[in-house]
Amino acid sequence: MTAETQRPRPTSGTGPPAGLTPDSLEPFRARLRGRLFQPGDAGYEEACQLYNGMIHKHPALVVRCADVADVIASVNFARERKLELSVRGGGHNGGGLGLCDDGLAIDLSNLRDVRVDPEARTVRVAGGAVWADVDHATHAFGLAVPSGIISTTGVGGLTLGGGMGHLTRRFGLTVDNLLAVDVVLADGRLVTANAQKHPDLFWAVRGGGGNFGVVTSFLFRACPVDTVIAGPMLWPLERAAEVMRWYREFLPAAPEDLNGFFAFMTVPPAPAFPEALHLEKMCGVVWCYTGDPAKADALFAPARALAPALDGVQPMPFPLLQTAFDGLYPPGLQWYWRADFVRELGDEAIARHVEFAERLPSMQSTMHLYPVDGAVHRVGPKDTAFSYRDVRWSEVIVGVDASPERAAEVTAWAKAYSDALHPYSAGGGYVNFMMEEGQERVQATYRDNHARLVEVKNRYDPTNLFHVNQNIRPDAQKPPRVAH
Ligand SMILES: Cc1cc2nc3c(=O)[nH]c(=O)nc-3n(C[C@H](O)[C@H](O)[C@H](O)COP(=O)(O)OP(=O)(O)OC[C@H]3O[C@@H](n4cnc5c(N)ncnc54)[C@H](O)[C@@H]3O)c2cc1C
Repeated sequence: MTAETQRPRPTSGTGPPAGLTPDSLEPFRARLRGRLFQPGDAGYEEACQLYNGMIHKHPALVVRCADVADVIASVNFARERKLELSVRGGGHNGGGLGLCDDGLAIDLSNLRDVRVDPEARTVRVAGGAVWADVDHATHAFGLAVPSGIISTTGVGGLTLGGGMGHLTRRFGLTVDNLLAVDVVLADGRLVTANAQKHPDLFWAVRGGGGNFGVVTSFLFRACPVDTVIAGPMLWPLERAAEVMRWYREFLPAAPEDLNGFFAFMTVPPAPAFPEALHLEKMCGVVWCYTGDPAKADALFAPARALAPALDGVQPMPFPLLQTAFDGLYPPGLQWYWRADFVRELGDEAIARHVEFAERLPSMQSTMHLYPVDGAVHRVGPKDTAFSYRDVRWSEVIVGVDASPERAAEVTAWAKAYSDALHPYSAGGGYVNFMMEEGQERVQATYRDNHARLVEVKNRYDPTNLFHVNQNIRPDAQKPPRVAH
């Protein structure tokens, strides 16, 4: 039995939409420049692969768009035939929201052009690019766009949810560096949204996810980032409470050109790590310093005074840091995660963290605390849809393993850990670190901005065509769409 035939089949139970006969499909196919895949076609199963190996979805049609015209045709076809519609950027979403069962999946993976304007310090990025594409193009000019920590993640999903990573404290969220988007709306129109044109839409896409249309092009401000002084420092897990207490005081007071996310981890048995540490459970901080190199030693001195068991901090090209974790987290792993925003790291919360870190169930399971202070705090909570700008950390608890047999175990650990820590959190969580957690959680995450997001949704997508996401429901949402 091949891996393909072992994969669970569609779970919706409705099967392929009845109206999709060859006759009805041919005029649509003829309008496309890209490829259209149906179940059974060569390449169909590959087009259904998601980053999270735990999730399997099987659309009736996958349209690998070649250009914006293909995106428009696909949106119109799905709307007119009342098909379930999903939009796939990099396919990294933990909940598998890039695909749907039985309906039409717009696949943007061939739209990956990146064009840097070094004079204007802007970057134009097509809607299906991944961050490795952007890092490669911008680094040639000593520039970078703030993004996440894994280079294979899609620009589309990460940006639309907010975007946090190694450059957050200094340059803000990814959305704080977004200048404009081209969006194919539910009615098939293409509009540009920026501070002047469709400002309501521009506000909403900066944190509101894929709720408002298909973004075919992003225009970013690029930041001067070239060689960074970066890497991990690791300490034995027995020292985790001490290191966390130190970190919670040190980082908020550190200059904004120093970023450092806290992590629990199991040291991979890889040559980059001393053999004595292989498979040891440890805690650490992954640093990224973008300031004056002459000041780096003084800045890192307090951390070094804590005598880390491993000090991997060194100068490196920014794209190298961006790819440092790609090998540890290849596509296809079993993946379950939960998230919360954190205002304060109290002693009690730290004690609970350490308890669960001692029970890390697999090598790739982890907990990260991403700083969301510094430049993030200089943008008001109502200035963009991303609301939680008054917290210090975005916490994500991740149960990961390569083996489907261990999926239940890593999931149970992540859920129990998250349940134990949730009472110490600020309320909502980062939408891009959520699975399928329901409307209450989505509303808690957008807080006061939720009502305005619903207004924008009413204006641009009143029938909720774009609902395979952390959904903002329009007021007049129709009952679940029935394929015909
Ligand atoms: C290993 C890993 C590491 C990560 N690290 C970080 C990190 O450091 N920082 C961070 O902020 N996040 C991080 N994330 C979370 C990531 O931001 C989300 O998983 C995000 O949804 C991925 O975007 P994607 O385009 O790859 O996903 P997809 O699965 O393709 O899409 C996710 C959602 O976005 C929508 N979407 C995607 N592209 C478009 C588009 N062009 N137009 C309209 N809608 C679109 C989809 O419809 C779907 O609802 C990480 C995820 C993984 C798996």
